[in-house]
Amino acid sequence: MRAATSTSVRDTLRSQLADLKMPGALEALDEILARVDSGTLHAAGAMDALLRAQITLRNNRRLQAAMRSSRLPAAKTLADFDFTFQPSIKREQIESLHTLVFVERKENLILLGPPGVGKTHLALSLAVAAAQSGRRVYYGTLADLITSLEEAQLAGHLTHRLKTLMFPALLVVDEIGYLPITRTGAMLFFQLIARRYERASTVLTSNKSFAEWGDVFGDEVMAAALIDRLVHHSHIVNIRGNSYRLKNRADLAQLMQPEPDRTRTRRPSRQEA
Ligand code: ADP
Ligand code: MG
Repeated sequence: MRAATSTSVRDTLRSQLADLKMPGALEALDEILARVDSGTLHAAGAMDALLRAQITLRNNRRLQAAMRSSRLPAAKTLADFDFTFQPSIKREQIESLHTLVFVERKENLILLGPPGVGKTHLALSLAVAAAQSGRRVYYGTLADLITSLEEAQLAGHLTHRLKTLMFPALLVVDEIGYLPITRTGAMLFFQLIARRYERASTVLTSNKSFAEWGDVFGDEVMAAALIDRLVHHSHIVNIRGNSYRLKNRADLAQLMQPEPDRTRTRRPSRQEA
């Protein structure tokens, strides 16, 4: 058993951490010193634990600020994502995206797949990671973003709104394909993507394949030009699997199967037909 850290050393450390405005480290100090005193933690480990406590606090504060200003609807994380449930997803690819190198390179990510397979979850966990790393992020559904652009255009502020949507290092455009879009809306969105192209990363999610985007945007030519810009420097994750929302509802999951499967498993009896 070593000699306990003296009160004066402890007080000096406390006032230094307070002076440096490191409340996370300050709060962790006593526990770290107790482990040092009992011999379970050595000098380098203690320094690591102290700095780590401060970094954790800073990252949580960044995330809280982002939750307010970036409109993130939930703080999903990669740790909460169950890869065993979704075998079509390559774990290494998703983990490597979470290092945020693609954000540094201003590349895009497009998450495609049916409802409930985790597209929004992964888009949000990337936005959370980016916010924690101190990057500016912003979240909107396609419908929300288009509404905000239309409102700005009506008020004569379109250029300003487009500039504002250029700032985030990571912009999430969620739910492409769920709601119909007007032609003007599609043109405004095209302007946004054209501006962000090669300047900042965008993560997009859609339940529709690229072949169906012409219908979504009401214009084949514009959809093709949009896809051209989006996929030029991009990562595409195509998720094929079951809805996590129906995970514990085998009864409902079966009803969601495509038509041919259902007819194969159960044919109407003569009396029913
Ligand atoms: P999508 O956007 O593809 O429709 P979501 O990402 O919204 O689906 O997922 C629906 C719900 O299920 C969310 O609460 C999400 O956190 C959860 N979820 C989806 N996939 C997984 C998974 N593989 N592991 C853990 N939670 C998941
Ligand atoms: Mg979604």
